[in-house]
Amino acid sequence: MTRDPRYDVLFEPVQIGPVTARNRFYQVPHCNGMGHVMPNSVAAMRGMKAEGGWAVVATEECDIHPSSDVLPYREGRLWDRQDQERLALMVDAVHAHGSLAAIELMHHGHAVSNRYSRLPVMAVSDMAVAGYDPVQASAMTRRDIANVRRWHRKAVLRARDAGFDIIYVYAGHDLTLPMHFISRRYNRRGDEYGGSLENRVRLTRELLEDTRDAVGDTCGVAFRFAVDELMGDEGICSAGEGREVVQMLAELPDIWDVNVSDWANDSVTARFGEEGDQEPYVSFVKHYTSKPVVGVGRFTSPDAMVTQIQRGVLDMIGAARPSIADPFLPSKIEQGRLEDIRECIGCNICVASDWTQSPIRCTQNPTMGEEWRRSWHPESMNERGASKTVLVVGAGPAGLEAAMSLGRRGYDVALADRTEGGGRAVAEAQLPGLASYQRVADYRLGQIGRSANVRFYPGSEMDASSICEFGADHVAIATGAQWRRDGMGRATWQPVAGCETHPALYTPDDIIAGQRPERGPVLVYDDDHYYLGGVIAELLAETGLAVTLVTPGPEVSHWTQNTMEQHRIEQRLLEMGVMLVCKQTLAAVSPGQVQTRCNVTGRMQQRDAVSLVLVTIRAPEDALYFAVAGQDEAQLADLPFTLMRIGDCLAPSTIAQAVYDGHRFAREIDERPDPDAVPFRREQSLIESGNS
Ligand code: ADP
Ligand code: SF4
Repeated sequence: MTRDPRYDVLFEPVQIGPVTARNRFYQVPHCNGMGHVMPNSVAAMRGMKAEGGWAVVATEECDIHPSSDVLPYREGRLWDRQDQERLALMVDAVHAHGSLAAIELMHHGHAVSNRYSRLPVMAVSDMAVAGYDPVQASAMTRRDIANVRRWHRKAVLRARDAGFDIIYVYAGHDLTLPMHFISRRYNRRGDEYGGSLENRVRLTRELLEDTRDAVGDTCGVAFRFAVDELMGDEGICSAGEGREVVQMLAELPDIWDVNVSDWANDSVTARFGEEGDQEPYVSFVKHYTSKPVVGVGRFTSPDAMVTQIQRGVLDMIGAARPSIADPFLPSKIEQGRLEDIRECIGCNICVASDWTQSPIRCTQNPTMGEEWRRSWHPESMNERGASKTVLVVGAGPAGLEAAMSLGRRGYDVALADRTEGGGRAVAEAQLPGLASYQRVADYRLGQIGRSANVRFYPGSEMDASSICEFGADHVAIATGAQWRRDGMGRATWQPVAGCETHPALYTPDDIIAGQRPERGPVLVYDDDHYYLGGVIAELLAETGLAVTLVTPGPEVSHWTQNTMEQHRIEQRLLEMGVMLVCKQTLAAVSPGQVQTRCNVTGRMQQRDAVSLVLVTIRAPEDALYFAVAGQDEAQLADLPFTLMRIGDCLAPSTIAQAVYDGHRFAREIDERPDPDAVPFRREQSLIESGNS
């Protein structure tokens, strides 16, 4: 296959000061929940991006000094020579594929509490630290400013010595000291670093000049700047001071990396933002500088990328999430393999990894974060083992990924589903804001459709005898899960009395199947705490019914704090007139009513619920598995094939986890790991010699 000439422009080289990017694909800095704690894992993950064709591959934020210690989060670090050596692993991995390595140096100012280093927190002015730690930051003296500049310069030199090609000064997002100085909101200084914008920009200018001075013509100097905080005049604004900063510093960096702040605005989920949605804020930048400009916008479509270049919005296509979902996105465009692109669905499971301090994971790319510890490659599978044939029952995310990946290994695979396939990904894509979830199924069904050795049988209900008669070497049961209708959930470990008496009780499965409450008031009880409770409340409010969302959580859709959507969900529900009730647990159900118990006082309250929607937990659809395996798996050892449960059918979880389960099953089918051994390589802490 050859590249479509319309996309040639994406493969032109770009000069970034003294270094040249081989094309316009730029993996901008992104966190990964591994950071300095897992340098081998980070290096392999970044190297994979370079192998996939990203001309520039950047680190995540790297703090430059113990006074900028971001514990509990696991980010990059460049405090000393040992950190330099860890980061050099990543540089080598990126250089091995002909790409440029970039490093984003940062000092967090008051955005940390120094929980590890226990050093006093430094800030532009006297203030509380960000968040709720009972800690305050001390206003930096001129000596402190000189120290930060010296630490930054030392980090720059270490970065250069580690082999980085591009070195960042970072004032993107609300977490960085230069941004705190620029911002009127934080800067109350009366010296030459406060007051006028010129003064507030002084530290940034000095850091840029220091960086240039330190590296000479060995490295490009990048400046990441949030041109708009989406706060109007309260913050940096692309129509106001954001624009003026760009004018003031226009030619100082070798490349402008521009975005909107804070991170929740920069990495907005598909539910709340479209591809390319930063354009209105960043498009002015190129008018003021002759230097290349890179920006992001969850770009997965090469046509959208090309128009960014042709219309003069950006010079380089920046990506964090699209490069996570498909590290080989540039190569696939270059080779004319658009149908092979695994498009990001904008779910922010990757972002949640960082907030939960877990190694990065991705709904679309199950190999993300597994490049080193499991040696998984997103584009190639291990060779087929001794056996030949596999039957996969259920074509949801788990079954689809298993069948597709087994096909790539060379197995003859039959995939059966009673429906047209797609499972919960297709079902949930019908709900407001979740259309992109369809991509999980579309990509895999497309790949399976083009595979010579995977046959998909839609409309095929399988039972125990048809499975046994099929005669495969291996059978995977991926039949998913059903939402419970008995009130049992996370706050309630037992079924709730009376659910069976309610005449208009629905679960998410009912709503997805098209059933709708006819009469209100509707009470949506959300003991799931992820997105579905809020989505269903939104859907029902749109029909004009009076909706109350009750949750035992401290706020609605509490887990979506990790996907950075919680505030948007709450705002949307309030604006739609949905009544929100938190910290209340379902205690009893009766026709037309429920009783809830206050989590704090234990006081009971009667609530009207002419219609009731229970979004609690799911029960695995494992009857088929046990029909074949026997009660308590008694027949398992005697079957003429291996039998496994995968995905939600085993343990209901996120779509990302179902995909991962399907993928792991496919990787391990003929060589099951020793259940007593750690199933992957671990990053180990050093043991100091001399310890007894
Ligand atoms: P997961 O997230 O684990 O992939 P899903 O619930 O999304 O699970 O998908 C399960 C799929 O299994 C659904 O598409 C469903 O139609 C299919 N399925 C369930 N039971 C059977 C069966 N007995 N025969 C064929 N397909 C089935
Ligand atoms: Fe995109 Fe979701 Fe993967 Fe993140 S986890 S890269 S948002 S598909």
